[in-house]
Amino acid sequence: MIFHTFLLKYGEIGIKGKNRYLFEDALVRQVRFALRETDGEFNVYKKQARIYVDCAGEYDYEDVTEKLKKVFGLVGICPVVRLEDKGFDELKKEVVSYMDEMYEDKKITFKVESRRSRKTYPKNSMEISRDLGEAILEAFPEIRVDVHHPDVTVNIEVRDEVYVYSHIIPGAGGMPVGTNGKAMLLLSGGIDSPVAGYMVSKRGVGIEATYFHAPPYTSERAKQKVVDLAEKVAKYAGPIRLHVVNFTDIQLYIYDQCPHDELTIIMRRYMMRIAERFAKKDGCLGLITGESIGQVASQTMQSLAATNDVCTLPVYRPLIGFDKQEIVDVAEKIDTYETSIQPFEDCCTIFVAKHPVTKPNIDVIRRSEERLSEKIDALFEEAVRTAEIIEIK
Ligand code: ATP
Ligand code: MG
Repeated sequence: MIFHTFLLKYGEIGIKGKNRYLFEDALVRQVRFALRETDGEFNVYKKQARIYVDCAGEYDYEDVTEKLKKVFGLVGICPVVRLEDKGFDELKKEVVSYMDEMYEDKKITFKVESRRSRKTYPKNSMEISRDLGEAILEAFPEIRVDVHHPDVTVNIEVRDEVYVYSHIIPGAGGMPVGTNGKAMLLLSGGIDSPVAGYMVSKRGVGIEATYFHAPPYTSERAKQKVVDLAEKVAKYAGPIRLHVVNFTDIQLYIYDQCPHDELTIIMRRYMMRIAERFAKKDGCLGLITGESIGQVASQTMQSLAATNDVCTLPVYRPLIGFDKQEIVDVAEKIDTYETSIQPFEDCCTIFVAKHPVTKPNIDVIRRSEERLSEKIDALFEEAVRTAEIIEIK
């Protein structure tokens, strides 16, 4: 079957008045962006509170639908066959052959729903539905009508041409990226943070990212893994500006000066501070982490409080109530899992203590950090200044 158009459905709840235009315009922009490097020609436009993608030239159906399935804000993607109007008898034949091709197994129930935006068409929508329904019933003895809970709703829209569609591919849901500002994701090579970025982005938030590595203790391949993960998240979130921070000197300095059971917490506090610096410079409205209560020692309520203590921007932790398996399920769905489980060293695991504090006291931690006063400001500025920026498309 050759589809000439995709009709894109979006959730309309809560988007009224001026917001609706913003929402639709952002959606059109994101759909164009998603298809920008795809074979074929695509005309994306909105019309009568709907969004259409008209396709021309050779295109790969799987490729296009895979890309559309990653656009936040779409709840359904309907592949449409456009028929030239050659009279009703011809339409009947074409709709019958559409059904034949779409549904190999005819033991299904169906109904026809019609809309007529061209009012000069010789039949009204009731008549169109009834007569096409009849033609389908006549053609396929096994098929049945069910007007209340049909397996298949055949939609007919009479415009200049006649649009026929019956299949709805579920969309990604959420809101179009760009309708809710931007946030800075602390992206490690683990399972959790890519999922966290995906989830916040799903609500319409653009993503930037910061990754801390510790060469030569962490390898180039560990960094490449994070770049790969950013690329996977970018398929949903759009372009990501990734800051890669050399954290080695700060980590070594903390290791030298501070109690070892507090290393992880102090390190995490410096990560947050540096990420926040980039966030503010680039107009991000919050930070995002992949933390979840109690998952590890650095994610107890006390540890989260100690990490949070250094931030002035809100910290979004979309996985806070998720169990690991629930996070893995999303990671698999968005195709980051296989990359995340590649075994490369992480900067946190290298300097980790045998028995980290699980209930850090913020005052104690602050006092420990005073031991860093001699050099930490210079190291901090150096880490910020030397950060590498990778633009992920
Ligand atoms: P993840 O799977 O996301 O790495 P995790 O279970 O390994 O999470 P931690 O290592 O405690 O948990 O990290 C908690 C959060 O801190 C991460 O989700 C991430 O947002 C941030 N983070 C940890 N390490 C780094 C890093 N090297 N660079 C950037 N962010 C990091
Ligand atoms: Mg980690």
